[in-house]
Amino acid sequence: MVVSLLLLVQAFFSYFQPENAFLAGTYKKILADIAATALTKADIHFNREVVFFEPRQQGPQSPPQITIHTSSGIQQSYDEVVVTTPLGWLKRHKYDAFPSDSPLPPRLLKAIDNTSYGRLEKVYITFPTAFWQKATISSASSTSSSTNSSPTSNSSVPTPSTYPSFTHFFTPEYVPHPPNQPWNQSLVNLAALPASTAHPTLLFYLYGPCGTHLTNALSSIPPSTSLDSPYHTTLRSFFEPYYSRLPNYNASYIPTAFLATNWQLDPHAGYGSYTNFQVGLESGDKDIEVMRSGEGMGEERGIWFAGEHTAPFIALGTTTGAYWSGEGIARRIVALYEDLRIVQKPQDRAELQGELQGKGSDDFSGEKAKKKVLSAEKRDAANASGMAL
Ligand SMILES: Cc1cc2nc3c(=O)[nH]c(=O)nc-3n(C[C@H](O)[C@H](O)[C@H](O)COP(=O)(O)OP(=O)(O)OC[C@H]3O[C@@H](n4cnc5c(N)ncnc54)[C@H](O)[C@@H]3O)c2cc1C
Repeated sequence: MVVSLLLLVQAFFSYFQPENAFLAGTYKKILADIAATALTKADIHFNREVVFFEPRQQGPQSPPQITIHTSSGIQQSYDEVVVTTPLGWLKRHKYDAFPSDSPLPPRLLKAIDNTSYGRLEKVYITFPTAFWQKATISSASSTSSSTNSSPTSNSSVPTPSTYPSFTHFFTPEYVPHPPNQPWNQSLVNLAALPASTAHPTLLFYLYGPCGTHLTNALSSIPPSTSLDSPYHTTLRSFFEPYYSRLPNYNASYIPTAFLATNWQLDPHAGYGSYTNFQVGLESGDKDIEVMRSGEGMGEERGIWFAGEHTAPFIALGTTTGAYWSGEGIARRIVALYEDLRIVQKPQDRAELQGELQGKGSDDFSGEKAKKKVLSAEKRDAANASGMAL
C-alpha cells in the first residue's frame, strides 16, 4: 500500500513537474528576450545606487509621488516604485532607507527580520584539460563494449563521454576545518555540458561558514590569473585536497584560472545569496506573504516589493521566482490604475464606460473595481501555488 502510494505520488510529480533543467548556455538568451521591450522603450539608468525612499504620504498637502534618492545625490520622483533590492539589502537598510517619521510597517519589518538570507558562493576552477573526464573515458571504455552504453547517456554509470555532472565531498576529514562545522563541497562538472558549451572547468558551490571563511580569506586579495599570485595560491591550497581526489589526477594538473564570487561582501547582492529558511523559523510562509503583499506600502504609499524573496512559494530563491514576482507586482499596479480610472476620474469613467459597453459589459461601478482587485489577488494566489503557469 505504501509502495503504491509512493509510486502514485512519484507519477503525479513527474507528470506535473517538468525536468529541472541546467542552462548550459547561461541565461544570456532568456535575458535578452525578456529585457528587449524594456531596453527599447524604458528610460534605464544603470549604476545608480538608491539609498533613500520617500513614500507617498496620505493627506491633501502631501506630494502624490514617491521620491528616490541616489548615493550621488540625484533625486527623482515617480508615480509608483518597485523595490527589487535583495532581502539582505532590506535587512541592512530597512530603517535608514525610509523616513523615520514614516517607517515601514511593523509587521513588514518583522518579516524582513524573520526571513534569513543565505551565503552560497561559487568558485570556478579551470584546468588545461578535463583530466577527470579522461579518467572516466579510459575506465569506462573498457566496460563500454560489454555494457553497450550510449556515449551521451546521462546514467549514474560512467559512460565514455561523461564523468557525473555532480560530485559531493561529504564530511571531508582530509582538510583542516573548525570542529562541528561542515566543510562539505559540491561541484558541477562543466566538462559534461553539451559540446558547444563544455569546458575543462569545475564549479564548486560553497555555503555557510565555509563560504564565509574563503570569502574573508580572499577579501583583500585582487583576482589574478598569475600562477604565483596570492589569489591563485590561496584558492589552490583550499581546493587541491578536493579536486585531487577526482579520477586520474596527478600533481601536474595545475589550474590555469580561478574565479571566486564574493557576494557575502557585496552590498548590492545584499551581503549574501538568496532567501533561506533557518531552523526555528515559526511562520515563514506568513512572513513571505507579508513581504509579497507589501503590507500597506504598495496601494497606499506607492512602494512595492519584488524579487526572489517575494516570489511564489514554489520558486522562492530562484531567478524564475524573481521574474514572476515582478510580473505579479506589475499586474497589481495595472489593476490598481484600472480601478482608479474607474472610480476616481469622471472623464475616464465615461471613456471606460464606452469601452466596457463595447465589450458587452455595463458594470463600471466601484463594485467592478473591487472585483478587479480580487481577480488580481486570485491570480497572485494561483502564482503562489505555482499553478498559474
Ligand atoms: C551561488 C548561487 C547559485 C544560484 N543558483 C540558482 C539556480 O541554479 N537557479 C535559480 O533559479 N536561481 C539560482 N540562484 C538564485 C538567483 O540568482 C536569485 O534568486 C535571483 O538572482 C534573485 O533575483 P532578484 O532580482 O530578486 O535579485 P538580484 O538578482 O540580487 O538583483 C538585485 C539587483 O538590485 C541591485 N541593487 C541592490 N541594491 C541596490 C540599490 N541600493 N540601488 C539600486 N540597485 C540595487 C543589484 O545590483 C542587483 O542588480 C543562485 C544564487 C546564488 C548566489
